[in-house]
Amino acid sequence: MKFYVDFDDCLCETARAFTGIADRLFDKKVPYEDIRFFNLKESFGLNDDQYDELMIEGHRPEVLLSYEETPGASQTLNELIDNGHEVSVITGRPYSAYETSRKWLDDHGLDRAKLFCLDKYGRDSFIKNSEFNLKLEDYYKMEFDYAIEDSPLAFKFFDHLPDLKVMVIDRPWNHEVELPGNFTRCTDWKMIKNLIG
Ligand SMILES: [Mg+2]
Repeated sequence: MKFYVDFDDCLCETARAFTGIADRLFDKKVPYEDIRFFNLKESFGLNDDQYDELMIEGHRPEVLLSYEETPGASQTLNELIDNGHEVSVITGRPYSAYETSRKWLDDHGLDRAKLFCLDKYGRDSFIKNSEFNLKLEDYYKMEFDYAIEDSPLAFKFFDHLPDLKVMVIDRPWNHEVELPGNFTRCTDWKMIKNLIG
């Protein structure tokens, strides 16, 4: 089977790291549990310049490499790969973060997972003028049996696959979103593992 896996807040604790960055740069103290919007500009109450600065800081290689793994992610995915399944990490990070993201995966035992950068969030919610290495038209040629995502803004990328089983990692910014029938809210990777069987 083929697995689509999102990177930030599925494989690693990106939003938790961003709360620390917002505090360090702008003295904004927003607890992780209070991140109600996927758009961090809104959640942290930042202006446009501050948001740009936050995103650039959060994508510096040493910062990206410091993101903590979400417990169980690497082990679960490696078991799937051991059993002959295919894992593609499809991230909304820009291609400028590819090499560092690849290193993070390799450092966390995910060297056999593929990595693609797809423009999931549009120019307004990411680093300006970013490039991506997976074109939308090529993404739509890919097929998946399972998807693991956290962002409601990315759910539209599953509309063309009605049989896809989508597992949504429960996060404060998706907690109140109503999910379609083929979606399952998952508290952690243990639950994902049990659902895949
Ligand atoms: Mg994500």
